[in-house]
Amino acid sequence: ESGVALIKAGTLTTCTHLPYAPFQAKDQTGKVVGFDVELIDLVAKKLGVTQAIVDTPFEGIKSGADLNSGKCDVAAAGMTITDERKQVLDFSEPYFDATQALAVVTGKEVKTLEELAGKRLGVQGGTTGEDYIKAQVKEKSLKIEVVSYKDLAALQQALSTNQVAAAVNDLPVWNEYIKANPGKVAVAAGFDTGEQYGFAVKKGNAPLLKAVNDALAAARSDGTYDKIYKNWIGE
Ligand code: GLN
Repeated sequence: ESGVALIKAGTLTTCTHLPYAPFQAKDQTGKVVGFDVELIDLVAKKLGVTQAIVDTPFEGIKSGADLNSGKCDVAAAGMTITDERKQVLDFSEPYFDATQALAVVTGKEVKTLEELAGKRLGVQGGTTGEDYIKAQVKEKSLKIEVVSYKDLAALQQALSTNQVAAAVNDLPVWNEYIKANPGKVAVAAGFDTGEQYGFAVKKGNAPLLKAVNDALAAARSDGTYDKIYKNWIGE
């Protein structure tokens, strides 16, 4: 008896924000797959239920609104653990280390934010990448026009069609984009923000948080985590 109460019997409902490959994105058949999906599948398995994924804007996920309103049991969205988000969500143990990266269309290599003076820099709205860039622009009084896009697909589209001179997002998503679209885009610079991703539950949902942490710990110790990592992220 896990003591875990789910919003829908027999189902672990996960809120996410698509697309965010390699963590969660639709495959050719429309099924949502990825690194986060497989880790949450382990939690569902442990609870003897099936995972159902709900695609919803990132704002409702990180603000706790979706978990509080009962739209989902757990949030799995390549989401960085931050002090601000910890006020409104209960995070699992960290399950992934990430940094921010600056991507450009191949051949237009820039190495620093300073070189983007007078240009447009794309970010994804509501993310830690947006926060990081806005803080840098302010701190260094950079004359960059920061443009926020509603999701990763819109950001990548803007970059590849030269609507922006460069774009910032988490490094693994650029690596994945480059794998899927060889030669189009390159990572020009990295910013070591020391971010860690966590899964989140509604504040106070200790039984579910424990189930998530137990599944993560088991996956780390029996090699499943490494297998999933190798499959979705690489060596
Ligand atoms: N890791 C970033 C954040 O938490 C981006 C997450 C996302 O866009 N899904 O803000």
